[in-house]
Amino acid sequence: MITRSPVVLQRQATSQPDTVPLILPSAWQAQLSDAIRDPGELCRRLGLDDGWLPGAERGHTLFEVRVPEAFLARMRHGDPDDPLLRQVLPLAAEGKVVPGYVADPLEEADHTPARGLIHKYAGRVLLIASPVCAVNCRYCFRRHFPYEQNAPSRSQWEASLEYLRADTSISEAILSGGDPLAASDRQLTWLVERLDTIPHLKRLRIHTRLPVVIPDRVDDALLGWLSATRLQKVVVLHINHANEIDDAVVAACARLKGAGVTLLNQSVLLRGINDSVDALATLSERLFEAGVLPYYLHVLDPVAGAAHFDVTDEEARELVAGLRETLPGFLMPRLVREIPGEASKTPL
Ligand code: SF4
Repeated sequence: MITRSPVVLQRQATSQPDTVPLILPSAWQAQLSDAIRDPGELCRRLGLDDGWLPGAERGHTLFEVRVPEAFLARMRHGDPDDPLLRQVLPLAAEGKVVPGYVADPLEEADHTPARGLIHKYAGRVLLIASPVCAVNCRYCFRRHFPYEQNAPSRSQWEASLEYLRADTSISEAILSGGDPLAASDRQLTWLVERLDTIPHLKRLRIHTRLPVVIPDRVDDALLGWLSATRLQKVVVLHINHANEIDDAVVAACARLKGAGVTLLNQSVLLRGINDSVDALATLSERLFEAGVLPYYLHVLDPVAGAAHFDVTDEEARELVAGLRETLPGFLMPRLVREIPGEASKTPL
């Protein structure tokens, strides 16, 4: 795995010495900006026949395509059923109106006391640290989230920090997004240093898919601020299929663990992607090999545009019963649903 910290260069001396630094993007930032954003390119690169293109273009108008090269490289060429491709390939079905599937299925808009801050559960507060994701997952419950209204500036961060300082019942700050690790290390260092000074905070939790889709994100700069904080660190990855875990992801996980991070994973149960005992068991085994414990298996949140991924509750329970016959208890993810207004996730 290539790891590279931001490179700072001095401008070449001209008639007047100029010491303004030029900061070149890190390897991961370059990969983020080079991600595929065109449905035609995605279809071409994977050798899909032309019949997939109209649907991909239609879905793209509803939620844009974004696929980093490092993730694309793990997909099978010429296979429209590849489980990684199905997570990111837009389809015409996303335009179908299905009763019960809505823009804000978790009603998060009702829980934002400060810009970029969501307070749904006792003791934990969620901060939208970045409005950007490294990959756009078609089933995402935040695919319609108004990020532009929730991308705080530094002064607005101060309001969120003040909210945390004032509520001594909050012991855990959760960085979310978008993907919080899409923010620069400079921004994250600034934020985490301030969280560090809030005495009642004990834990920093980071929900991210970046170490999976761009493993180079786990570079020295990230490990620097993670290692420096006094807070206990938990990183909750988001991996839905064993094929997502290649050697680079295993190496990224090892680096995070080396920085004192507890690694957990949450998955979404998705039709056509991981809705079999074999797929789920292989995922749990592979996660454990990478040093990650399976945590949650979420049923799909009913977000508009994603109904074709739904697995019924009955099927989900049968899958988990089958999984229990296959796996030791510590490799069993908990099957849960998030219900708006409930004090925690609801086990099925
Ligand atoms: S928030 Fe997570 S699930 Fe949603 S698009 Fe971004 S990476 Fe995918």
